[in-house]
Amino acid sequence: MGSQIGVTGLAVMGQNLARNIARHGFPVAVHNRSESRTKQLIERYGDEGDFTPATSLEDFVASLDRPRRIVIMVKAGGPVDAVIDELVPLLDRGDILIDGGNSHFEDTRRREKALAERGLHFLGTGVSGGEEGALNGPSIMPGGPDDAYAPVAEILTTIAAQVDGTPCAAHIGPDGAGHYVKMAHNGIEYADMQLIAEAYDLLTSGAGMSAPEIAQTFEQWNEGDLESFLIETTATVLGHTDAATGRPLVDVILDEAEQKGTGRWTAQSALELGVPVTAITEAVYARALSARKEQRTRAAGVLPGPAGGSTPDGFVDAVRDALYASKVVAYAQGFEQMRAASDEYDWNVDPGTLATIWRGGCIIRARFLDRIKEAYERSPELPNLLLDDYFRDAVAGAQDAWRKVVRTAVDLGVPTPAFSASLAYYDGFRRERGPASLIQGLRDYFGAHTYRRVDREGVFHTLWSEDGREVSAD
Ligand code: NDP
Repeated sequence: MGSQIGVTGLAVMGQNLARNIARHGFPVAVHNRSESRTKQLIERYGDEGDFTPATSLEDFVASLDRPRRIVIMVKAGGPVDAVIDELVPLLDRGDILIDGGNSHFEDTRRREKALAERGLHFLGTGVSGGEEGALNGPSIMPGGPDDAYAPVAEILTTIAAQVDGTPCAAHIGPDGAGHYVKMAHNGIEYADMQLIAEAYDLLTSGAGMSAPEIAQTFEQWNEGDLESFLIETTATVLGHTDAATGRPLVDVILDEAEQKGTGRWTAQSALELGVPVTAITEAVYARALSARKEQRTRAAGVLPGPAGGSTPDGFVDAVRDALYASKVVAYAQGFEQMRAASDEYDWNVDPGTLATIWRGGCIIRARFLDRIKEAYERSPELPNLLLDDYFRDAVAGAQDAWRKVVRTAVDLGVPTPAFSASLAYYDGFRRERGPASLIQGLRDYFGAHTYRRVDREGVFHTLWSEDGREVSAD
């Protein structure tokens, strides 16, 4: 008997995923382009389960049961194509390739189509949870044909995180659906982290609290509605002391955020779909601004801010409420984007399933996702989470605090792009009539783009005279 599944690409993610598979009793073949990683895995962890190491892809493929199930866990982009090109001549019809990296969903669509023409199955599979998740139970989002998912369902649901007896793995939809929702998950993660960073900034630059004090605040917040992996981790990071200097670690970390691209991809896709995902997009911009350290340092010396000011009573609790309300908006936007993509690409993605499999294993795991799951159980066709009774009430209850925090941030000159954008979205979304009538009027004036009216069906254009007066209508 051969191995039930193989993993090629044994950097941190592939190695941990292979160990996770082996620890659950599935015989697993392992391979890496450079042999040293394979050797190291076997030397260190070979006794954790039934591993079959291979030094060549030929041996690797030959050691697998049919249909062959191969997880590709290499660097996203060209390397995935390179590995597929090497594997294809060695495979037979019905074999299944599982790309577990952070591939762009358009690449996945292309690969799935090309491989299907050769009788091979391709599952573009989002894996969330970082290296710890890969080892102990990630959230897994496979996308591809039903025929490809069925033979790997048992392994994937077994190695995934489990919450209340439910695995954090589910078939998301065809072709690029799995990688799309993983991308959107990461986009939401960007927004979540940006909101947390803004809350921290308000408490430190605004309220003058120290990192250890803010760590304690986050610990308390983690006992309420905000309970989540990211809030808990924020408390840990803020509470950590740098051994070399004795200062809070966060105070000695350079304030330039890096990015690998999934947040930017989410924002790009949202722009193309015409879905307003302002919190995620602001989070991407905030990282970009943070990276302009030299310019910021120069600007800090010459651009004046407000004269000064203080934070109002009850500010810490108000920041907590503002964080929660902004987070609801960020998730509402992210879920709306996934629904729009699902409609655009015909994926039939179920948002309730996403909320369910993101409750464990992944970086955005949170108590909050149970509420989202319940909202979609109440109303599977819910167009926007803000229209669910629970979230409507949660945001309504937080809105005074939310406005106070954004006002204070403006007065103090503390930038809160994601808090502010979320509040602006909320105010824009709840307006039955907004100022776009004027935009349409302007477009009609200089470009004859026409407009529709509130009192009559049809398309209208006003003939504007040279001096801007209406000369005739219709
Ligand atoms: P890396 O993204 O750092 O990729 C390194 C691996 O890719 C090595 O095994 C390397 O082989 C292999 N590789 C690179 N180029 C080629 C090539 N041309 N042919 C064959 N193999 C190649 O590894 P990670 O483990 O960090 O991530 C793997 C995937 O998982 C990525 O898509 C990543 O975005 C995604 N991911 C990562 C997470 C994380 O926390 N790190 C979380 C979730 C997803 P060699 O050893 O020979 O150089």
